[in-house]
Amino acid sequence: MPRTKKAPMEFSGIEEVPPYVPKKSEKYMSKRMAEYFKNILLAWKKELIEENDRTVEHMQDEATNIPDPNDRATRETEFSFELRERDRDRKLRDKIDLCLQKIDEGTYGYCDTCGEEIGLPRLQARPTAVLCVDCKNLEEIVEKQRGT
Ligand SMILES: [Zn+2]
Repeated sequence: MPRTKKAPMEFSGIEEVPPYVPKKSEKYMSKRMAEYFKNILLAWKKELIEENDRTVEHMQDEATNIPDPNDRATRETEFSFELRERDRDRKLRDKIDLCLQKIDEGTYGYCDTCGEEIGLPRLQARPTAVLCVDCKNLEEIVEKQRGT
């Protein structure tokens, strides 16, 4: 069965962030531009960490207070779902950390595979993108062929 592709996870605050408007002579990934994305990534990471803390707390509360074994089983299923979600968040956090590291190194915004500029619009839509559109599409085709 083909695995359905998960919707890309979005930073919920992204819509409140005004789009980046480069100055006329501004170079791609100027200090100001890098700083702009750094702030988005940091805010996103904070959000994920807070979300994670809330879930852990909530799970601890619930786990100590379920007398009925059937309810407990239901809760355990829910827990494992939540844990999977957390696992996904953790991976996303790793990705964000990687991007933050790239910003510090000055490689953020350039494709991991071909070294081309990923481009402002794409980064704006997906601040964790590390591949340009072409390489990303190619990667997806290869993944599809592998059946993963
Ligand atoms: Zn590329």
